[in-house]
Amino acid sequence: MTTTFDSLNPATGEVVGSHPKQGPEAVRAAVGRADEAAAWWAGLGHAERRRRLLDYKAVITRDLRGLARLVHEETGKPVGDATLEIVLAITHVDWAARNAQKVLGRRRVATGMIGLNLSATLEYLPLGVVGVIGPWNYPVFTPMGSIAYALAAGNAVVFKPSEFTPGVGVRLAELFAEAVPEQPVFQAVTGLGETGAALAADPRVRKIAFTGSTATAKRVMAACAENLTPIVAECGGKDAFIVDADADLRAAADACLWGAMSNAGQTCVGVERVYVVDAVYESFMRELSERAAGVRAGEDYGPITMPGQVEVIKRHIDDAAKAGRVVTGGPGAVRPPFVDPVIVEDVPEDSPAVREETFGPTITVRRTRDAQEALELANASAYGLGGTIFSRDARRASELARLMRSGMTAINSVISFAGVPALPFGGVGDSGFGRIHGADGLREFARPKAISRQRFAMPGMNLTSFSRGPDELERLIRLVTFLHGRRKR
Ligand code: NDP
Repeated sequence: MTTTFDSLNPATGEVVGSHPKQGPEAVRAAVGRADEAAAWWAGLGHAERRRRLLDYKAVITRDLRGLARLVHEETGKPVGDATLEIVLAITHVDWAARNAQKVLGRRRVATGMIGLNLSATLEYLPLGVVGVIGPWNYPVFTPMGSIAYALAAGNAVVFKPSEFTPGVGVRLAELFAEAVPEQPVFQAVTGLGETGAALAADPRVRKIAFTGSTATAKRVMAACAENLTPIVAECGGKDAFIVDADADLRAAADACLWGAMSNAGQTCVGVERVYVVDAVYESFMRELSERAAGVRAGEDYGPITMPGQVEVIKRHIDDAAKAGRVVTGGPGAVRPPFVDPVIVEDVPEDSPAVREETFGPTITVRRTRDAQEALELANASAYGLGGTIFSRDARRASELARLMRSGMTAINSVISFAGVPALPFGGVGDSGFGRIHGADGLREFARPKAISRQRFAMPGMNLTSFSRGPDELERLIRLVTFLHGRRKR
C-alpha cells in the first residue's frame, strides 16, 4: 500500500497537499515508462521538440499566477518572488528550446591535412532517461535549469522534487503533459530521500542532475557509481561579496542586502561573506545597516522553508555573535519560522559562520587592506559557486572576477548571471561540478557522437593497412615535417 506525506505551508503550518511516498517499485515503473517515451521524444527531432518546448513555455506562462501561488504556499516566499523565479525559468525554457539544434545538431568539422580524404561530422545525441533531484529553495527555477535543457537535448526526465515542494514538481510535469500529451516524457515522482535514492540507483537512468547539499551529493554520487551513472552536482555555496575602494557604495549596500536576505537567504548563490576594503568600510557599513533596519522577515521575505535549517542558522548566529560584533539582528532575530536580517562583523575566518553554508538571512562582514586581500579571503573557501565584485573600474573588476575561484561572478549587481540563459551555471570544489544553463548545460545532457567517413582512398598513403610499405611511411614523414616541423611564432 502506498503511503502519503503532506507538504506544509512553512509560514502557517497548514497542509498544502498530500502526495504518495513512491518507493523503489513506483520509481522503477516511472523510469520504465520514461525509457519508452525517451525513444519517441528523441525520434521527434530538433524542430518538433523545439515547437513542443515553446508550447510548454506558453502553458507555464499562462499558469504563472497559479504556479506562483503554489510556490508561495509550499515555500512561504512572497508571491512576487515566486513570480520572478518562474519568469526566469520561462526564459530558460525558451533559450533551451531555441538553441538546442544550433548547439547539439549535426555539423561538419575540419579533418586536417592528414585526413584530407575524410569527411567528419559531430553531433550531440540524447542520453535517454535523465533523473533530476531538486531542491525546495527555488522549486521552479532551479530544477528547470536541468529539466528544460535535458528535454531540449532530446531526453525524457523523471523528476524527484524536494519533499518540501512536491506539489510544485507535480504541477510542472502536469503542465508539460498539456503541451506533450502523447507520451510521459516528463514525469514527477514524489517521496522522501529514499525516492531520490531509488532514482539514482536505477541503471536505466543515464544521468542524474542533483541540486542540494554537498553531503547528499556525495551519497547520490556513491549510488550512481554502482552503475557508472554520471552526475551533475549543483551544491551549496558560501559566496563572497567584495566592495572595492571606488565602488558605488549605495548601490553596493542595496545589492548586498538583497543578495543576502531575499528568499530568507535560502539561495545557493546568495551573499554570505562580505569583504570591504578599509578605505570605504565605515561608509559602506553605514549604508548597509541603515537599509537593513528597514527589512523584516514575514514582510520583505518569507519564513525558513525547511524547519531543521533554523537550528543551523541559529548555531551560526550564536557563534558569530560570540566571536564578532553584531551590527544588525543577533540571536534575537531568530523567531521560528522567521529569521530577521543578521549582520555580524569581525567574525574569525575559521568560524562556522564563515566556513559553512548558513542558508539563512545572515552575513559576516570583514574589513580588508585592499581588494587583493579581499580576493584571497574570498577564495579561501571549500566552496566556489558564485560571487560579486563592486568597483567602478571595469578593467580591475573583471580582473578580480576572473581570479575569483567560482563558477560565476557578477560585477556591480548580484546573481545577474542566473538570468542570462546563455551563461553556464555551476561551481567548483564543494559547490559541485558540471554545468546547467547555456550551451554547456545542453551538452551536459547529451553524448558527443563523432563520425568520420572516407570519401576516397588516398593514393600511395594507405596508412591503416598491413600492406603499408616504407615509401608510404617516408611520404608521411615528409608531410608531417612540412606541416609541423618548423618553429612558428
Ligand atoms: P538535500 O541535499 O538533503 O536534498 C536535496 C534533494 O535530494 C531533495 O530532493 C532530497 O529529497 C533529495 N535526497 C535526499 N537524500 C537523498 C538520497 N540519499 N538520494 C537521493 N536523493 C536524496 O538538502 P536539504 O533539502 O535537506 O537541505 C539541506 C541543506 O542543503 C540546506 O540547508 C542548504 O545548505 C543546502 N541546499 C542547497 C541548495 C542549493 O541550491 N544548492 C538547495 C537546497 C539545499 P527530500 O527533500 O525528500 O529529502
